[in-house]
Amino acid sequence: MKKVIIPLILSIILLTSCAAVQEDGTASNTSVQPTEPDIAYLFAMDTYMELRVYGGGELLDKAEELILDLESKLSVTGENSEIYALNSSGGKQVSEDTAELLRDALALCGRTNGALDISIYPIVRQWGFTTGSYRVPSDGEITELLQYVDYTGVSISDDDTVTLKSGMEIDLGSVAKGCAGNKVVELFRENGVTSALLNLGGNVQALGTKPDGSPWRVAIQDPLGAGNLCVLDIDNKAVITSGGYERYFEQDGKTYWHIIDPKTGAPADSGLVSVSIVGEDGLTCDALSTALFVMGLEEAAELWRGSDDFEAVFVTSDGEIYITEGLEDIFTPADSYKNAEVRVIRRG
Ligand code: AMP
Ligand code: MG
Repeated sequence: MKKVIIPLILSIILLTSCAAVQEDGTASNTSVQPTEPDIAYLFAMDTYMELRVYGGGELLDKAEELILDLESKLSVTGENSEIYALNSSGGKQVSEDTAELLRDALALCGRTNGALDISIYPIVRQWGFTTGSYRVPSDGEITELLQYVDYTGVSISDDDTVTLKSGMEIDLGSVAKGCAGNKVVELFRENGVTSALLNLGGNVQALGTKPDGSPWRVAIQDPLGAGNLCVLDIDNKAVITSGGYERYFEQDGKTYWHIIDPKTGAPADSGLVSVSIVGEDGLTCDALSTALFVMGLEEAAELWRGSDDFEAVFVTSDGEIYITEGLEDIFTPADSYKNAEVRVIRRG
């Protein structure tokens, strides 16, 4: 029997449980910061989004436009998008936005040794994850399609013309929301906003602190049950999670999720069920959450040891929780995990 989980329902669950923001009822003693936010809700990039800004409410229309514009360029299924045109033709001059994102994404494919691979699209499509027509491809189909998966076959010239090797197609689903978060935060910051919180379908990105100067409290969803795993106290950071529970289907008692190991062409089987990345750059966090999910705990910890731009929370399929040491002081387990052991990954 095939059980299909509708992304829309998942998105609603994510919205209600993934980002818990504690409202601040106390008055600001500087009296320059409004304590009530302006909020915009939209559906974009296949998920529900909430943009919450304290001061600068007039920027919300522009922020929405910016996200929708990015979606219209990047959508892998939208027939008018730049990515669709690129995938259909194998070569195309793209907008500055798309070229910049592609360059950043390719650098992150390299940094993660190809655990992130934006040329994974032929495989993702075969599994039905972009269309909702889920199916398990045969080994032969996967082997055939894997020959087209290799991000080093994507080249971008100085005039932003992108060329793909024959048969190759790209998918920026692993980084698009992180990129959108960065752009909205940049818009707010440039216009003097010092307090805002974005929830892009469970991917959270904070600008500054809460209006009273205290950190935002952002919850990470429990990948193994209902409710939350923990809360992180953050400011000026993104908290971006990749989880097997976010999009999956079941067939003959097996679960198949949407994060694919580019080495095998099958859903990543690394022993992790969720990876959350905390860092200043939303795009980097989005790319790394997907890549570290593929890599598994050991390889992910090695990559973290050689980096200084992110921290991480890992949950294994056995329910073990690991955090990198930079999160020790800002991590609070949810009540249901009060007594759980939290293992700390250290540099030394
Ligand atoms: P995320 O939710 O950010 O982890 O991104 C997952 C999405 O990225 C999937 O729905 C696919 O569209 C795409 N994807 C899956 N596996 C990979 C991979 N290894 N590298 C790059 N993109 C991927
Ligand atoms: Mg991602």
